[in-house]
Amino acid sequence: MNLLENSLAQIRKASEIMRLDPAVEEILSHPERTVEVSVPVKMDNGTLKVFTGFRVQHNNVRGPYKGGIRFHPYVDMDEVKALATLMTIKCAVVNIPLGGGKGGVIVDPHSLSKKELEALTRGYTSAISDFIGPNIDIPAPDVYTNSQTMAWIADEFSKKHGENMLGVVTGKGLAIGGSEGRETATSQGGVYVLEEYTRERGLSPSEMTVVVQGFGNAGANVAELLHREGYKVIAVSDSKGGLHCKNGLQPDAAVSCKLEKGSVGGCFAAGDACEMISNEDLLELPCDVLVLCALENQVTGENAGKIKAKVILELANGPVTPEADEILESNGVVVIPDILANSGGVTVSYFELVQNKMHLYWPLDEVKDRLRKKMVDAWKNVEDTSKEYGCSYRTAAFVLAMKRLEEAIKMRKGV
Ligand code: NAD
Repeated sequence: MNLLENSLAQIRKASEIMRLDPAVEEILSHPERTVEVSVPVKMDNGTLKVFTGFRVQHNNVRGPYKGGIRFHPYVDMDEVKALATLMTIKCAVVNIPLGGGKGGVIVDPHSLSKKELEALTRGYTSAISDFIGPNIDIPAPDVYTNSQTMAWIADEFSKKHGENMLGVVTGKGLAIGGSEGRETATSQGGVYVLEEYTRERGLSPSEMTVVVQGFGNAGANVAELLHREGYKVIAVSDSKGGLHCKNGLQPDAAVSCKLEKGSVGGCFAAGDACEMISNEDLLELPCDVLVLCALENQVTGENAGKIKAKVILELANGPVTPEADEILESNGVVVIPDILANSGGVTVSYFELVQNKMHLYWPLDEVKDRLRKKMVDAWKNVEDTSKEYGCSYRTAAFVLAMKRLEEAIKMRKGV
């Protein structure tokens, strides 16, 4: 099953448990709009290359569409539809007034020069500019896009409209209306949830080991934040390989080394007693917490039975398949699902939008306090729903979100 089928299966499962109105289930099972664009780019060698881009707007009943833009060689329309669907659910779980959208461009950005990447980003923006806007649909960074990508989008969109419209994207740099805390928001939000989970169970971070798959924005930040909280990070990986240091590693040293060498695989100086490890083996390491920060479908029916972690924290979107979920559940592995665990990113994006509209900017401590409150409330709501329905945290998060969406759909659409 691909991520879209997985997400729809989750919606069906939650609908059944909560006895959702079938009309609402039908609405939530289809995106409201899908856009596919062709983006011609003049390459540095003088040739012209056409790239394919997507923007999917899943549902805006609770507020404007919101969701990242992914630049990846394997992105396709189904993946973007799935990610847009998850955004609708996620915004409802964390109870912010936004809907779900997502974008993608089929490209390996590492194979492009900066000039080509800028031209592609501006061309894509221009192609979807009729569909986005600060009150319509607000993109943000996702895999292989960042604050620079957002700056180009904001600039291109503002040029087109003849006025500064920085609020068209979030995840911007501080110099152009970004929010304090946005870079680390996804990871920080996940850490707040994990802290609640460990605190409620009387566990001590200093006795807990952590493995992180995907040492990019979310992964490197979560490794550093957990290390600072006292957890022992014993392994990290990126697409080129992994590093396992059984006595623990220094995430900041791994970040510097990755910058130099291009991968964490060879960063032996990041800790004592280190060895290289493949991504497959990394997932199966014995540990207390496995944090998934790469891409979807990493834990599947094939390897779920070999997972030795006690808790999986999903910072990536869709990293555990439904088949794997069942195996993990029967083996007693707790999964803190993506739509809760990584919702700190969209929450601080929402704070960025609010600050852009007010032209008033909050200090980091205020952003963090507000984020902690949102994440802890969402976690408690998911826990309560899980107890009420006797279901996993993932299904509970879907039920919680779909109740909120059902109320809004019924109010607005008279369904
Ligand atoms: P990123 O591009 O900064 O990092 C992705 C990392 O994963 C890279 O280091 C890459 O090398 C690594 N990777 C790719 N394939 C891998 C594999 N098979 N095994 C191990 N590592 C692999 O992206 P990001 O922004 O950190 O996003 C990562 C995940 O988190 C995505 O699923 C994204 O949708 C999700 N997410 C990110 C945010 C955010 O704010 N950044 C918010 C919500 C969800």
